[in-house]
Amino acid sequence: MDKIFVVEDSKSQAALLQHILTRSGYEVDVYHNGKLALDAMRAANVPDMILSDIDMPEMDGLSLCQIVKDDPVLRDIPFVLITASDKIDELVASLNALADGFMIKPYNHNVLIETIAFLLKKKAAGTLVKFRPSEPVSVTVGHKHFSLNAGREHLFEFFMIAFNNASVQARELDARERKLKETNTELARNIELLAASEERFRSLVEAVPDIVYKLNADGTFTFINDSILHLGYEPSELIGKHFSAILYPEDAPSCDADVVLPYMASGTAAESPKLFNERRSKDRMTVGLRIRLMTKEREEILGELRALGTTTVHVEINSMGMYGVDSRSNRKYVGTVGVIRDITERIRFEKELEEARDSANAANRAKSDFLSSMSHELRTPLNAILGFAQLLDIPENPLNGEQREMVKHVVAGGEHLLRLIGDVLDLSKIESGHEHMEIGPINDVTKMVDSALKMVATLAVSRNIAMKNNVPTNLPSIMADRTRIRQVLINLLSNAIKYNRDHGSVTISSELRDGFVRLSVVDTGRGIPESKLGLLFQPFQRLGVDANRVDGTGIGLVITKQLVEKMGGQVGVESRVEDGSTFWIEIPVADESHTVHPETPEQDVAFKTDALRDIRVLYVEDNPTNSLLMQSMLKRHTNITLDITTNAEDGIAFARQHQPDVILMDLRLPGMSGIEAALLLRTDVMTCHIPIIAVTAEALAEVIRQANSAGFFAYLTKPFNGRELLRQINKAAGLITVG
Ligand code: ADP
Repeated sequence: MDKIFVVEDSKSQAALLQHILTRSGYEVDVYHNGKLALDAMRAANVPDMILSDIDMPEMDGLSLCQIVKDDPVLRDIPFVLITASDKIDELVASLNALADGFMIKPYNHNVLIETIAFLLKKKAAGTLVKFRPSEPVSVTVGHKHFSLNAGREHLFEFFMIAFNNASVQARELDARERKLKETNTELARNIELLAASEERFRSLVEAVPDIVYKLNADGTFTFINDSILHLGYEPSELIGKHFSAILYPEDAPSCDADVVLPYMASGTAAESPKLFNERRSKDRMTVGLRIRLMTKEREEILGELRALGTTTVHVEINSMGMYGVDSRSNRKYVGTVGVIRDITERIRFEKELEEARDSANAANRAKSDFLSSMSHELRTPLNAILGFAQLLDIPENPLNGEQREMVKHVVAGGEHLLRLIGDVLDLSKIESGHEHMEIGPINDVTKMVDSALKMVATLAVSRNIAMKNNVPTNLPSIMADRTRIRQVLINLLSNAIKYNRDHGSVTISSELRDGFVRLSVVDTGRGIPESKLGLLFQPFQRLGVDANRVDGTGIGLVITKQLVEKMGGQVGVESRVEDGSTFWIEIPVADESHTVHPETPEQDVAFKTDALRDIRVLYVEDNPTNSLLMQSMLKRHTNITLDITTNAEDGIAFARQHQPDVILMDLRLPGMSGIEAALLLRTDVMTCHIPIIAVTAEALAEVIRQANSAGFFAYLTKPFNGRELLRQINKAAGLITVG
């Protein structure tokens, strides 16, 4: 392996040469000046070739070359001088120092290797040009005169190497220039294409009705499409301005860093509205930010635009951050592109919709309030009609057959009216949302079905209809309001009886279907023709039933449907004329996490032995008919004394003075209301121990709730039946124990 000395004071240049030479298969020794290299050679470390820089401390390259070429032992070592300069003086000096080659930095690596190989080959062949002193030759280059003392052969060889070097460099330069030209052409074509695609993009953006904009990193507009004209601005007047120039100042806080940053800290920044200048780690993105922007109103007068001031417009903004790479290859936010959509119209619609909904709700509430107060007004006289009609036929003064028949009609008509009022009130309560449901898991569906069957048993017996409960005991729990689901079942069962034939049957069965329990009530009645099925579940639709034959209001199924749907279920019907109908309801199955509260059994009531103790009852009632009715109802119970006051104030005074056992309190009274009176009585030491029973035609859930909190002992709704009235009076007076 040929050894080459690299003599170079610049460490980086030396390292570069060492790298190039070792890669080409040479052994390299590096010396940082001529003296060190010479010392090595004198110490018998003789190289096959020397590559030396010219300018070096201690001993420069020219001196080293001179010494080597003067030394009979070393002079056959090819010596190449390398210099950073292209000054002709150094070239001449190199020649005169008898160097075998000359390289100008930056040298072409291939030429360097070529030159080394060429000189080494010549050395090996012993054909390296020997130094032959000749007569000094004078040369003039430009205005300078030089004297050369190298032989002609040497000169020739030296110039051949220099020429080779130059021509290789020229060729490479040529190639590079060609490549550069090609790149330039391609670049020009790309710029053209880019311009065309930008043009296309722009015309697309301009065609969009929304405002499309671009902001740079500090929030100023760099692009905005013509749609901004809708807000009264020219795109050009906004370019270079900050986004806040069009932001409605009052809405600025909703897109301010102080508002947004806390969201970011809680990790919910992705959902929160974004602004235009906040710092954050995640990608910037604004989704559905609703704010107001300022518009510029202008008026064109004689072809000139005049500003009329500003107004605001509601907009929705969607935008995305754009990212580039900085000098240290870090991802860097460079701006935002966004779309602004005018939603003023949408907001107006939403507002109108909300107002319409509010007024519909108000109208519905008004309707329900009207219905409930109307039902109150109807119940009061009805109470008198039914009460007195029932009292007409008493053992002391019995009616004759015809009279009894007529009274029966009065009572039947009154009862129908009462049912109708009750149903209408119930429906209006459910519809107005006043109805509060307690939905919870019910695990004893079979038992519940049994208790509903019991309620309609008398009706079934009177028609000789067989009732059957086919619901298994192992049904999963359902999610429902216990009272309301029983009401639904009773309604379906009584329909199945009412519209059945005598000696028919009604079967209730169950089925599990995809998260729901379906309860089906199957009857053997006359069925419903398909053409009439569509009329079911509509108020007052009785499908042509003879109202005289089958009692009903035509509201039951509507209530059923509303209730079932409120519990998250469905109702349906299948019917075949002459075969019968199947009405079904589907109720969601309770999920297992719910604990089940079994129904507390109806507590049985037993009279105490001292049932006939004297009871003093105070009735506070302003309506004389009602007072008369109460008197008549209690007249036969000789252990009860009834006192009446016509307003609350007198009632309180009476109670304090006479200490009645029970107070019956009407709620609607002139002056102080019954509820207010009850509150006073409950807090007065003289009267707080006296149980108060509310007696009223009010059936609104809210009134009942208020009454409950006023501490009433019980609540009787007019028209009450005599038995219930007595039961409550006895209970209040402590004459009945519960258990
Ligand atoms: P109502 O029974 O008070 O008339 P509903 O709303 O309960 O009111 O029922 C509405 C109508 O649907 C009834 O009048 C009757 O014509 C029809 N209908 C309800 N249930 C049945 C049934 N099981 N078989 C036949 N017809 C029925």
